[in-house]
Amino acid sequence: MIKDIVKDEELLSKPAEPATPEDANVAQDLLDTMAANEDCAGLAANQIGSTKAIIAFLGAHGPQVMYNPKIVATMVPYKVSEGCLSLDRETVVQRFQLIRVQFDALVDGKFESRTRKLTGWVAEVVQHGVDHCAGKLV
Ligand SMILES: [Zn+2]
Repeated sequence: MIKDIVKDEELLSKPAEPATPEDANVAQDLLDTMAANEDCAGLAANQIGSTKAIIAFLGAHGPQVMYNPKIVATMVPYKVSEGCLSLDRETVVQRFQLIRVQFDALVDGKFESRTRKLTGWVAEVVQHGVDHCAGKLV
């Protein structure tokens, strides 16, 4: 279901709760809402009014969902000015060219822990989404 984008900074500043396999509907809403917003490369669940730690983003092979994403390694820092669908401003932040992210994938109704190496633009979008899950606004 396509949801409205949350812009309330107080709500967006709350750290997300762990997601469970019962949150598949939130993941679907994220994908639907992302598809409905042309300029959107990624979304976190709190941007559509859910308290769960879930992100969706456009990966190398199309839209992808990560439950409970955690960045476990970073390499090659750089500074970039980032926008956000929830904010009217851009902010300069430090990101990393290479990241390793650990997350849960939903497989047959159960979570499986996965690790992925990401680079460049996709890595930046995922870092932005993980910040949202921590209640951090760019
Ligand atoms: Zn954002």
